[in-house]
Order: sequence, then structure tokens, then C-alpha cells
Amino acid sequence: MARYTGPLCRLCRAEQSKLFLKGARCSSGKCPINKKRAIPGKDPKARIGKKSDYGTQLREKQKLKRMYGMQEKQFRLFFERALRMPGVTGENLIALLERRLDNVVYRMCFAANRNQARQVVLHRHILVNGSIVNVPSYMVKPGDVIEVKEKSKKMNIVKEALTEISKNGLSSWVTVDADGMKGTFVSVPARAEITDLADVKEQLVVELYSK
Ligand code: SF4
Repeated sequence: MARYTGPLCRLCRAEQSKLFLKGARCSSGKCPINKKRAIPGKDPKARIGKKSDYGTQLREKQKLKRMYGMQEKQFRLFFERALRMPGVTGENLIALLERRLDNVVYRMCFAANRNQARQVVLHRHILVNGSIVNVPSYMVKPGDVIEVKEKSKKMNIVKEALTEISKNGLSSWVTVDADGMKGTFVSVPARAEITDLADVKEQLVVELYSK
């Protein structure tokens, strides 16, 4: 299935939940979810019926998949990998998603959102431990050093994204030298540390795929 290229806020409105797809705008008063805009294509006054168990599980899966900008096939492969790992499958799935290179680039504020981070990686602007990696789904390991390529350090999108560190701080599992545009993925985050996923119930995704 083709990658979605329509308005990103529409995806959040469809889920009635913040998916943090646009960077700084998501934490501002301009976010349509803060303004309680209606579900796309639905009459704002229409009654929203109770969802079935399947419907609830499906929506939760779509939410998580869209947050990380993934296609169904690849998301399913991540789930199957999480299933084979020891521990809680839902938490394993989130840990794997957090280790994706495009996500780590976003967490280090080298891009304003995951979509932009994916482009930055695809266009060969990122080094992992000194070598160019242009695969957004590359699995970053604790201790890996992620760096913006020397020639790419003048890119405005990276400079602008880095200003977010002073406004909103950094995730606790990464460290970043903003001047050097270089960071370390210190550890795989525990589920409770990932505060922007507080609304996500990954257990429902496990239930959906386990049918
Ligand atoms: Fe748009 Fe971000 Fe708000 Fe989602 S969270 S509706 S992408 S501004």
C-alpha cells in the first residue's frame, strides 16, 4: 500500500488522539486536537457509537503504526520479532520501534518529526558510528553514536529542529551535543519513560495480531 501523503493532522483527528506528526506545532495551541475538531468526514453533531473490541484494537494499532510512520507489512514484521523476544510482547514492540534509526534521529532533535527524520536518513545525511546509514528501519543499539554528516551540518531543517532541545528538552535515553550535531543512544527506554505514548495501549495491538 502506498505511503500516506495527505494532511497529517487529519490522521490525528481520525484517531481523536495526538500522534505528534508535526513537531513543534503538536505542542502548541494550534494543534486541532486541542481545539477538539471533529472526526474527518463525520458530522460534528453525529453520535459516536460504541466501538467493538475488534474496532478498538484496530484503532490502537493504526495509531501506533501512524506515529512511527510505518506500513502494515513492516509493522507486522516488527510485531513478530517482538513476539519472539523474551518479556512482554507489547513493551518489546515499543522498544523495537524506538530503536529505529529515523525515530532516534527525531528523538535527538536532528529533525522536527519522524517523517522528516526518515527523509534525512534516506538522503544520506546521517552517520552511525562514523558510517553513512540510509535505512530508516536500521536498529540502533545502546552506545551507538549518531551524527549529522559534516557537509549536512549547515542544513536549516536540522538547525531549526535542534532549537527544540532548549524549548522541550531531550528524551532521557539519548544525549546530544547540539553544536557538534552528534548524539549517543544511551539505552533502550523503559515503557514508562516514553511519555508521548502515554495514550497508546500496545496490549490491544498484541490482542489484535494474536487472533
Ligand atoms: Fe497535527 Fe501534531 Fe496536533 Fe497531530 S498532534 S493534530 S499532527 S498538530
